[in-house]
Amino acid sequence: MDKKALREKSLKRASELKSRIQDYLDVKDQIKTGIEQKEKIQERQKTIKEFFKATEEEWNDWHWQIKNRISDTKTLSHFITLPDEEKKVIDQIGETYRWGISPYYLSLIDPELGVEDPVYLQSIPTSNELVVESGESDPMLERETNPADCITRRYPDRLIIYATNQCGMYCRHCQRRRNIGEVDKPKSKEELMNAINYVRENPEIRDVLITGGDSLTLGDDRIDWILTELRKIPHLEIIRLGSRMLVTVPQRVTEDFCNMIKKHHPIFINTHFNHPAEITEESKKACEMLANSGVPLGNQAVLLRKINDDPFIMKKMNQELLKIRVRPYYIFHAKAVAGTEHFRTSVDKGVEIIRNLRGYTSGLAIPTFIVNAPGGKGKTPMVPEYLADRGDGTITLKTWEGLEIPYSNKEYDYDYDEDLFEDED
Ligand code: SF4
Repeated sequence: MDKKALREKSLKRASELKSRIQDYLDVKDQIKTGIEQKEKIQERQKTIKEFFKATEEEWNDWHWQIKNRISDTKTLSHFITLPDEEKKVIDQIGETYRWGISPYYLSLIDPELGVEDPVYLQSIPTSNELVVESGESDPMLERETNPADCITRRYPDRLIIYATNQCGMYCRHCQRRRNIGEVDKPKSKEELMNAINYVRENPEIRDVLITGGDSLTLGDDRIDWILTELRKIPHLEIIRLGSRMLVTVPQRVTEDFCNMIKKHHPIFINTHFNHPAEITEESKKACEMLANSGVPLGNQAVLLRKINDDPFIMKKMNQELLKIRVRPYYIFHAKAVAGTEHFRTSVDKGVEIIRNLRGYTSGLAIPTFIVNAPGGKGKTPMVPEYLADRGDGTITLKTWEGLEIPYSNKEYDYDYDEDLFEDED
């Protein structure tokens, strides 16, 4: 084929490839990030600051954000119109399941959308929480995988340390809501030391995840102490912190915090964005400060019905996360936790989302879709079928566009013959 014909062929293919994402390009701009709604969010923040008579300095102080979490309907109704029936429901749910929303996260809710708003649905109780058809308080049987204080161990070489039950905001879909008590209760130094000693006594443990609740609700001194103690263990290679504060109280990431973290590398942080609306100027700044401090950031989203159970919402979120230097890591299928059943989708929905990402966007923007096997039996990846068939020495590939292509499955069996290269002398 001559050069001109090759160029024409390439142009035809390029046009075909563009047509593959035209449906996304048509709606992409309608799925707004928080950054794209900056002015509206700033207006709401102004109203909230006036209500609390908060200075700029207070607003930017994460302790102030936690101290002023809104957790009663009287205060909430200053910012969002709540019919009396709705207030009663929220009060009733609050007796069983704690709720509380930081002033910052509240400013992301569009009051005109109300219960249609993805941030509202994640933070404010709805009557769905009262419909308990099924679900358990501890489907992962964490109480049966707890070999020492504050520890869950489900895998051979890594484990979780729960350092606190406190969070910046109490997510309505929380899978650990049984641990979220009426009062914030960080673990004592003694309990934490028992967990650290367990790691010390088990040399196969090379990776520890510190979470909660939310590990970044602990003060810098306490986190520094935990990391210092863990770093005394020679066989421990990496430490991860699990935190949603980057999303719900991004003011948590300060220069002091970043300087403290730098002393303990390699530290990884996994956060939890569920919707593009959560990607704001503030969360961008927090993520960039951490990335500049050498912390690799990953995102663990939860697949939530009517919030992000849509391939285009997930695609936009993952692409926008990469722009703020957060790598999409997992999408979790929501577990069967009592009071959160209304957030659950089918497993097929998650597989469909992955099928609509693979090939259609960069591999970096594609997380692994995970079902947590009941009973704490571990993360199980769910993937679309790309291996269409299997024959004698061949397989059939199914490409991202659905094409079926035969491919050799033979192993190269030529043995290296040393004699061929022997020195003739
Ligand atoms: S931040 Fe995590 S642990 Fe805390 S309420 Fe939300 S999902 Fe649960």
